[in-house]
Parts: sequence; structure tokens; C-alpha cells
Amino acid sequence: MRAKSVHTLGPSKQLAWPLNLALCEIIMSMRDYYQTNDAILCPKCGREIYEWEGQEGPNALFIWLKGNKHPIDQRADEDCKLEEKDFIKWFLPEKFELWNTEGNCTVVAEGMCENGIWNEIVISNAKHT
Ligand SMILES: [Zn+2]
Repeated sequence: MRAKSVHTLGPSKQLAWPLNLALCEIIMSMRDYYQTNDAILCPKCGREIYEWEGQEGPNALFIWLKGNKHPIDQRADEDCKLEEKDFIKWFLPEKFELWNTEGNCTVVAEGMCENGIWNEIVISNAKHT
């Protein structure tokens, strides 16, 4: 399931700002996206995986790229997006679960940080769905 854009809930520009802000918080407290430059192969079917989702990070629709300490982008509606200069305030936990369900398998992996930098991803489970 993809995050809904705030605009699907109504024209946000017409909302009073406290309501708009509350919607942003609901929408943003869902998940983050995780990417790697190198493909991780599904152990079941061999498909290449470059993007994962997880709910053990800040859950602010950030895009985290392996090898980085902070988010590289945020996949949120413009109304809800944090300023890029504030991305450096956000970190990942030492270990966090990730999953990918794009193909015919559900693949679960564990991401790991060293000195705050996400530098490892290990597949922990994969099954056909
Ligand atoms: Zn697979």
C-alpha cells in the first residue's frame, strides 16, 4: 500500500492550517523507503531488489540510501515535506526491519547501521506469496 497524497483527502489549501498539519502527521507517520545502489537478489526467484520499506525508522516517508547517515529525500506531498536542511536531524536506529513485496515473494531483511551510517542489509526471510 502506498501512502495517500494529502490531496486525495481534499484540497489541502482550503483547510485551516492546524487541520492540514494534523493530516500531514497522520500521512507521514507511516513508513520510510530504503534504497540501495546495488541490487539485493531475492533468494527465492532471483529478482533484483533496489527498494525496501520499513516502519522502524522515523516513519516520515523519508528515502534512505544505503551508505548515508541521513535521509536523501522525502516522498511526501509538498505541503507536508520537511525542509531539506532539516534532514540532518534524522537518523536510523542501529537495526531495523525492511521488506519488499513487489514481486511474487515477500522478502524481509534487516538493515544495520555503523556509527549512524546504514551500511548493511541482510535478508532474513523470503517466501512466495
Ligand atoms: Zn522472489
